[in-house]
Amino acid sequence: MADFFQALDQTLAVLDRLRMESDHPPRASRAALVRLREQGKSERLEPLRRRVAVCSRCPHLVSSRTQTVFGVGNLDAQLMFIGEAPGADEDRQGEPFVGRAGQLLTKIIAAMGFSREEVYIANVLKCRPDMPKGSPGNRPPTPGEMATCLPYLTEQIEIIRPRVLVALGATAVEGLLGRREPMGKMRGRWQTYGETPLMITFHPSYLLRNQSNTEKRKVWEDMLLVLEKLEQPISAKQRNYFL
Ligand code: URA
Repeated sequence: MADFFQALDQTLAVLDRLRMESDHPPRASRAALVRLREQGKSERLEPLRRRVAVCSRCPHLVSSRTQTVFGVGNLDAQLMFIGEAPGADEDRQGEPFVGRAGQLLTKIIAAMGFSREEVYIANVLKCRPDMPKGSPGNRPPTPGEMATCLPYLTEQIEIIRPRVLVALGATAVEGLLGRREPMGKMRGRWQTYGETPLMITFHPSYLLRNQSNTEKRKVWEDMLLVLEKLEQPISAKQRNYFL
């Protein structure tokens, strides 16, 4: 199946090149092939979603969660954002990044020239980390919980095949790459996850706590690198945000 999608991707790339370079554009419908690819992705993602929904690998999280939070967005997204774990809002609604941090992430995505529906958003952990009864707030997922859940995210990435991944915060980086370093050292630098370029930036909740233009600009510079990697047009206005 993976070979089929690779072949489909290669066909689409050749068609695009022929369209650009040739006086006689090919007759195959790109839209039809893209629809075929999306349909294939959804057929592969749905069984994974169902497996995640009934996952019982972490019994303590099964008993505390309202539901698993799989991921949301365009199955053909070029860009995929990865957070750490659902919070209380996400656990209630079953969708990642819908609370305050999520609203800020949606604004960042819009500033990049995308809509939330055009990208894909997921977390390393699919369950909300449990909290002692009655205590407010969230806790970060443990390395063990993330290692247990990571194969689901890896499969998601393999199916969606984004051109670029963005890891939001040190915990997401630890979940993905298995190493913990200060964000000051890691952010703004390209890494790879498998073969996919991975940009590391601050988690939106960091920006909610540190609202200076200096910190906002750091995240924005990371997003400019992402836009450049995706060969997206960048306006002068966009270049100067938060300066
Ligand atoms: N923080 C995350 O890392 N993920 C969410 O889904 C929400 C908040």
